[in-house]
Amino acid sequence: MIEPPRIRLAQLPTPVHRLDRLSEDLGLDLWIKRDDLTGLAMGGNKARKLEYIMADLVARRVQAVVTCGAAQSNFVRQLGAACSMLGIECHAVVMNLPHPEGNRPCLDDHDLQLPTGNLLLDEILGVNLIRLPNGTWDELFTAMNGLGDDLRQCGARVEVIPVGGSTGLGAYGFLKAAEEISLQGQFDTVVCPTSSGSTHVGLAYGFRGSSTRVIGVSCDVEPDPLEDVELVSHALASLLFVSPLGRSEFLLLEGFGLPAYGVASVAGSEAATLLARREGIFLDPVYSAKAFAGLLQLAREHRLPGRTVFWHTGGMPTLFA
Ligand SMILES: *Cc1c(COP(=O)(O)O)cnc(C)c1O
Repeated sequence: MIEPPRIRLAQLPTPVHRLDRLSEDLGLDLWIKRDDLTGLAMGGNKARKLEYIMADLVARRVQAVVTCGAAQSNFVRQLGAACSMLGIECHAVVMNLPHPEGNRPCLDDHDLQLPTGNLLLDEILGVNLIRLPNGTWDELFTAMNGLGDDLRQCGARVEVIPVGGSTGLGAYGFLKAAEEISLQGQFDTVVCPTSSGSTHVGLAYGFRGSSTRVIGVSCDVEPDPLEDVELVSHALASLLFVSPLGRSEFLLLEGFGLPAYGVASVAGSEAATLLARREGIFLDPVYSAKAFAGLLQLAREHRLPGRTVFWHTGGMPTLFA
């Protein structure tokens, strides 16, 4: 395979360091990979995916992109920043809290969320946000594709970018991240949050055939949480010309996404408080806090022998939403 083109957007390598106090408290050898410090528009995991996604768009002279997500999407923010840098128009269709079909969370969802957190940053970046009332993910995808068609009718070269940047190229960014951390240390277990899937998939391919296992903690509440992972796995495999990892080859810890995608959990809040008070590091409520809660559960069950690294994926702006 020829290496896909890349545009530098992230400050790499991100630091890895040991969490001495928590290691002592929990009887673990616990480290953290600081992708909250990737730099692009306040950091986070999407910067790695965008280095490859944006290079491809530039090579194909794309003029406008359309994506979708939750109003507090970190991907929309980082995509917006990358588009600003490269002179590409950025459109995003968002709902406060999209939900799976037939699984509407019982939440008081007043449809107007104040322009805080990522919404504020999107506005500063000049992202064209189209805000829809809450509905299903399928409704959101339909609206995104519709907007893509409308823009094409006006004659622009438009690309629709799937939620979370979870394409084969997005996952490739995390395959490279696995190479990066391998030069920084040897780990028995990597624990990361999993949602649209390319973080988990890229890391799993990066560590394929090695003694390092990758455990994703699902941050979603979906009928089939491995569906997205499987789709991205096939996309990455065809990019690499290798046989795909099947769903049974991914380790996914479930039960930590509750009460709903995008809504903080008690276990997540406790985990975030613990990391802040023992190590001075913040986690976001939607992804990294829930994933860290999963890690703590694995630790209590003595399922993290050897050296473990927690992949901090960022999401800091959501703390202010
Ligand atoms: C998008 C995101 C994730 C999930 O990564 P996926 O590749 O979509 O599974 C985790 N943490 C943060 C902070 C994110 O923004």
